Amino acid sequence: MKDALNPFNIAQQQLDDAAQRLGLDPAMHELLRWPMQELKVILPVKMDDGSTKIFHAFRVAYNTARGPAKGGIRWHPDETIDTVRALAAWMTWKTSVVDIPLGGGKGGVICNPKALSETEKERLARAYIRAIGRTLGVTKDVPAPDVYTTPQIMAWMMDEYETIMGEKHPGVITGKPLPIGGSQGRGDATARGGIYVTREAANVHRIDLNGKTMAVQGFGNAGQYAALLGEEVLGLKLVAASDSKGGVYNPNGIVARDLVDFKLSTGSLKGFSDVAEITNKELLELEVAVLFPSALENVITKDNADNIRCNILCELANGPTTPDADDILYHKGVIVLPDFLANAGGVTVSYFEQVQNTYNYYWHLEEVYRRLDEKMTRAFRGVHDMHLREKINMRQAAYLVSVARVAEACRLRGWV
Ligand code: NAD
Repeated sequence: MKDALNPFNIAQQQLDDAAQRLGLDPAMHELLRWPMQELKVILPVKMDDGSTKIFHAFRVAYNTARGPAKGGIRWHPDETIDTVRALAAWMTWKTSVVDIPLGGGKGGVICNPKALSETEKERLARAYIRAIGRTLGVTKDVPAPDVYTTPQIMAWMMDEYETIMGEKHPGVITGKPLPIGGSQGRGDATARGGIYVTREAANVHRIDLNGKTMAVQGFGNAGQYAALLGEEVLGLKLVAASDSKGGVYNPNGIVARDLVDFKLSTGSLKGFSDVAEITNKELLELEVAVLFPSALENVITKDNADNIRCNILCELANGPTTPDADDILYHKGVIVLPDFLANAGGVTVSYFEQVQNTYNYYWHLEEVYRRLDEKMTRAFRGVHDMHLREKINMRQAAYLVSVARVAEACRLRGWV
């Protein structure tokens, strides 16, 4: 991977900028540049045909000054330790920007989940927990879903952990199915949080989104709900969506529910009626009111930033925009809602899930929505105020808010 596109280099570069603006002392800066704990494990897993396959996997706890590490587990063929480090760093800033008492972590398994059967996935999930379980726990590190991991996979992982411990620990993992300790509202929480901050951004910029257009790159958990809620909550019209195999486009609008149902039943967007095909590259460059990058890192770079024509860029994916692209977007006047603010709804409701697990008492859906809205709106306002006060872009502002809180926690603990 080119250094400029290495997500961990990017995460460190963003932190360096914040450290300089905050005038952090050199030891604090150095502490915050690195994960505090990394685990690399090898997982031998029996395949359905009787062979054994060897998987490489990671778990990183980046910083736990504000609370136990928290972060999803990604299953992807291109996973690397540096991707996991970057995502763990961004989790640290994310839990801080929404001000929940957690640190940041992340996990990953290098695998192609599309080539695994359900039974192979279950054995891989259980093997991962057997290998890293000793570093997990409600007081240590709590995983959740990320790209290509699901509530079912979380259920197997929790079950394996509880089997090892010989007692119930529903809070050890979040994003679980409802009947075994999941929270109402966790399924759409990431997108819903993004929708709330998009609403706030539109309000402060006096943009009326009702009837305007949206495009969604990446049509998985975050992307599908962004389309559904963009329509339902903001009155946006979906004109394009894509997944790893390409996209669909109709300038007159696509009914989000129909496209989601089609994707869920066929596993693809290809073959959906009344649409033209569109590439991921073309989708990103459409003139729309709101663009939701909802797939992977580095899709908006210095090569295409000048062609981005949305009013609001709501980064549901982690790390979709490179730092040099950020500068271009800022000067073009694109309103960027930075990833660790825009997609913090997922971890916020994961935190609510943990709280409910601890109390063993569960909230209504409306209660979850209300609390999520409150957290996201407050976080948006904090970042937006900083952006206005310091005359910096929204990502730099989000970093200042988050890094200052984490640094303060490190200082209070006497680490630096
Ligand atoms: P997911 O596995 O449910 O969906 C990922 C989607 O991206 C799939 O539709 C896939 O086809 C598509 N995709 C993969 N490669 C692509 C490519 N090259 N071009 C276009 N589309 C591609 O994953 P998710 O949970 O929706 O996560 C998506 C992004 O949101 C990730 O960056 C993740 O880190 C971030 N995120 C997710 C959550 C969450 O709670 N799920 C929380 C915060 C951030």
